Amino acid sequence: MTYTSFTPPRRTLMGPGPSDISSEVLSALSRPVIGHLDPLFVGMMDEVKSLLQYAFQTKNEFTIALSAPGSAGMEACFVNLVEAGDKVIVCRNGVFGDRMIQNVTRIGAQAIIVDSPWGRAVEIDKVEQALIANPDAKFLAFVHAETSTGALSDAQALCKMAQEHKCISIVDAVTSLGGVELKVDDWGIDAIYSGSQKCLSCVPGLSPISFSDKAVEIIKNRKTPVQSWFLDQSLIMSYWSGAGKRSYHHTAPVNSLYALHEALLHLHNEGLENAWARHKLQHDQLAKGLTKLGINFIVPEDERLPQLNAIYIPDTADDAKVRNYLLNHYNLEIGAGLGDFSGKAWRIGLMGYAARNENVALCLTALEDALSQS
Ligand SMILES: *Cc1c(COP(=O)(O)O)cnc(C)c1O
Repeated sequence: MTYTSFTPPRRTLMGPGPSDISSEVLSALSRPVIGHLDPLFVGMMDEVKSLLQYAFQTKNEFTIALSAPGSAGMEACFVNLVEAGDKVIVCRNGVFGDRMIQNVTRIGAQAIIVDSPWGRAVEIDKVEQALIANPDAKFLAFVHAETSTGALSDAQALCKMAQEHKCISIVDAVTSLGGVELKVDDWGIDAIYSGSQKCLSCVPGLSPISFSDKAVEIIKNRKTPVQSWFLDQSLIMSYWSGAGKRSYHHTAPVNSLYALHEALLHLHNEGLENAWARHKLQHDQLAKGLTKLGINFIVPEDERLPQLNAIYIPDTADDAKVRNYLLNHYNLEIGAGLGDFSGKAWRIGLMGYAARNENVALCLTALEDALSQS
């Protein structure tokens, strides 16, 4: 057996993540490795923290990037905040809400499930009924941007409702951060996690998270230690705390953090509001073109995510054949359907650096060609 270097082709990534990465972010990865406790690296990590505070629109002191993907951010929120016996209201309108439920039940806590249809936003009225029926519930958890269905939920209204019912809110912002309006402090979000490879357009493997002071208090006052050593945020707090005080917890993924720093810098330079507007603009362009091709969206217009376009596969088209054609003839990746939508939907991502004119144009041209072949 002989082995050679792996040289992947340059694809255009318009699926549910990872998303396209700019050459600046990509080249940040190849900068020299320095020690993760090197004062210069510690200084960069402090900047990552403040750039994340900007991205999340929060003053939360506990705002960091976990050295693990979005799924670990999800798990970190649940295992740190929730204890066995706690009652958690979980909204489910897609794959990721279902994963939240699995996290809750594995802890030995009780999940009160509020189901909304796939392809729709979380139904606010149903959540309110659940909050009223369960005055002893401690947490309300939901997915802001359901990547499996392309639906955007009203995080502001849900968090307000959580506060009115004395619940701590746990919000999945893996796909929403950087792509749509999100204001952690204004909306009163207590615990939130995201991912590096969606609208931040960085490499996969990092999970930005932020906890309010109230959430941090809950972690500090736990009755039992967090089951996961690696995700125990009481240990991570000292690792990410200010210059000089940092002590070894694990070896940070040094180069990935360079890339995240670079990606967050771009977001900061562009401005959050401009980034949100760009996603919306490109989504409108894409939607116009898809409509011309006779393709229908799954999600009603006012509940659609600009950065994740879930569309019905036309009856005449073969799911795998079309996606393979796009990959082989255009180096273009779009996403398959997930869960209930497997085989029925495609998911076209316009995340971060992928939300550009040239990507939309390529996608529409390639899709028209692929559909004419089947
Ligand atoms: C992608 C995604 C996750 C999981 O993130 P990974 O980085 O793949 O672990 C969680 N929630 C949502 C809404 C996502 O889109």
